[in-house]
Amino acid sequence: MPQLRLDTPVQFLKGIGEKRADALARLGIHSVHDLLHHLPHRYIDASTVTPLAKARVGDDVACIGTVMSKGVLPTRKGLRVFHAVLRDESGLLECAWPGQAFLDRTFAVGQLVLVAGPIRFYHGRQMAPREYVILGDADDPASAGRVLPVYPATEGLSHKQIRVLIDSHLDALIPLVPDVLDPALRERFALPSLAEALRAVHRPSSVAAAEAGRRRLAIDELLDLQLMLARARHVARHGQRGTRFTVHKTHTTALREALPWPLTNDQKKAIREIFDDMTKAERMHRLVMGDVGTGKTVVALFAMLLALENDCQAALMAPTELLAEQHHRTLTTLLEPLGLVPELLLGRLSAAEKKAAQARLRSGETTLVVGTHALVQDAVAFKRLGLVVIDEQHRFGVEQRAALMGKGEAPDVLLLTATPIPRSLALTRYGDLDASLLRERPPGRGSIRTAVRTPSQRRRVFEFLRQTALEGGQVYIVLPVIEESEKADLRAAQTMAKTLEAKWPDVSVGLVHGKLKTPVRDQVMRDFRDGKIGVLVATTVIEVGIDVANATVMVIEHPERFGLAQLHQLRGRVGRGSKESHCIILTTGEDVPDRLRAFAATDDGFKIAELDLEERRQGDLLGARQSGGVDFKVARFPDDTDLLTEARALARTLLEADPTLDQKAHRSLRDRVVTRYPKGEVLFRVG
Ligand code: ADP
Ligand code: MG
Repeated sequence: MPQLRLDTPVQFLKGIGEKRADALARLGIHSVHDLLHHLPHRYIDASTVTPLAKARVGDDVACIGTVMSKGVLPTRKGLRVFHAVLRDESGLLECAWPGQAFLDRTFAVGQLVLVAGPIRFYHGRQMAPREYVILGDADDPASAGRVLPVYPATEGLSHKQIRVLIDSHLDALIPLVPDVLDPALRERFALPSLAEALRAVHRPSSVAAAEAGRRRLAIDELLDLQLMLARARHVARHGQRGTRFTVHKTHTTALREALPWPLTNDQKKAIREIFDDMTKAERMHRLVMGDVGTGKTVVALFAMLLALENDCQAALMAPTELLAEQHHRTLTTLLEPLGLVPELLLGRLSAAEKKAAQARLRSGETTLVVGTHALVQDAVAFKRLGLVVIDEQHRFGVEQRAALMGKGEAPDVLLLTATPIPRSLALTRYGDLDASLLRERPPGRGSIRTAVRTPSQRRRVFEFLRQTALEGGQVYIVLPVIEESEKADLRAAQTMAKTLEAKWPDVSVGLVHGKLKTPVRDQVMRDFRDGKIGVLVATTVIEVGIDVANATVMVIEHPERFGLAQLHQLRGRVGRGSKESHCIILTTGEDVPDRLRAFAATDDGFKIAELDLEERRQGDLLGARQSGGVDFKVARFPDDTDLLTEARALARTLLEADPTLDQKAHRSLRDRVVTRYPKGEVLFRVG
């Protein structure tokens, strides 16, 4: 056998043949390192086991007890069954292992054993253990606290086999693990060594010890990412200098004086932060986060005007034509007193119109342009693009964003998003990205009242909708599906639209959903915007829709089918005018779930983002882990948010001392980061 190293393939380990190696590969385990980092997903110990007397028929439980008696009994069919009766403080439980008479030689009376499996009824309660562990002598105090790790398993390789495998090699493998953090740093951040942490997760003395080990591993996982993000940001900012804008107070001051309303404090602060960035030589890369209606557009406009008063052009890109049109209209109105006319560039323009618009951009005649991804087409060139604004930036691919930025020489970048994200996700997704938050809503706008209504109140709700429409108001009804189906007993958009059209001849009903072709869908949305439609029945395609101030009611059917963040986005479609708006949540059953009560009780997007994350974490661990855009194996959110802060501090400390992690003490860390994130190769190479 070759000398054992962390990158040695697992086949070289004793007890791993070709078949097992295949099974391990399915779990993503190829090397010795992978095996060591295959972590238990739970632990069984005295605090998680069921007292013997409490194990009920039909349950699947883990129990610990002392063997009182044992023996092999033949069944009538001749099968030999090993029996053992266990006892703990609560009582007795019989366990039976059919066909495993040999266990008679394994077990001894007086031993403390852990068993796990289903409880069935067979002349009384009886467990058919799927697995067992002999913990030791009942009177040996050392065995009392034994904690049993349970590993993710796969077909052909049970978690018990994995446990035995890891346990049998642990002592030989742990010494191979170097620590990527030097002892002084570990001490400063009160972290155990990597070797200690790995030993603790695989062979814990207590569940608390296992958790302490897991936290070190989670910090390392987060540290690698934070190092990448910090490094990427550093390179982006220093690699290419941006334009150093000067506040000439021409356009910007003119706009401030011409605005029909005062800016909110949050808007003022955001504009100040943006101007600070833009007047520096480093490139701006800032995110403006704020719920719908908090007034991000005008904030972006100030940034664009600062570019303009420095003889640069500015471009605003939106994900849909409707949104682009809306921005264009808003900007046109706001800029009118300044004598500035923004350009609009959309895919649906005629070839001649596009050509003319492109010519104006190239010559510099157009200083401010709003558009869709039509802006990133090859034919589009700018004379001097100084600022790029991207609305709902998460709806664009990295390439599209990069393509727009590539149309200028290191233009400043401002990103807008109406999807507030929890701090933990912001940190993992964007690292140190600068963010300006708009939490305050402009005054003078109608509030949104959220009500939860049950099926028995449906008639009254629909009567209210009809009245609203008849009085010239507009409403949205959102449903989770387009068509009815046998599989799911859900109300569908198509059916709803048909029913309402038949029932309410005096109201104009529109329908939009994702199966309509974009031009058709856009036309319906335009008709709604122009007030030609009173009731718009829709699926979530209107999630990032248009700003219709006259629409004051949002009804959401089957709200349990939507995430809280999604419900919040939908709610934000109303409350855009001065009238009071309503968001009505129509439950499927008479019981109102707590989550919907919580939703109705707050309209703080950041709070809802936290609730949403928590909900997704509980519903689907992996989903929540991945929702940061990064797949974490060890770290869990939001639980590990504190670790994230710690990892970030650690990354800063490391990079301050050694920006490219080039010192000898940091090389193994750099190697690990680059192995995990191949992109890092470039980032850590440049000085
Ligand atoms: P967001 O993009 O954040 O959803 P918008 O920028 O579209 O919000 O602004 C929503 C509406 O509020 C627009 O009609 C805008 O003109 C208006 N608005 C923006 N800021 C203010 C303010 N400070 N006071 C009053 N109205 C404002
Ligand atoms: Mg907006």
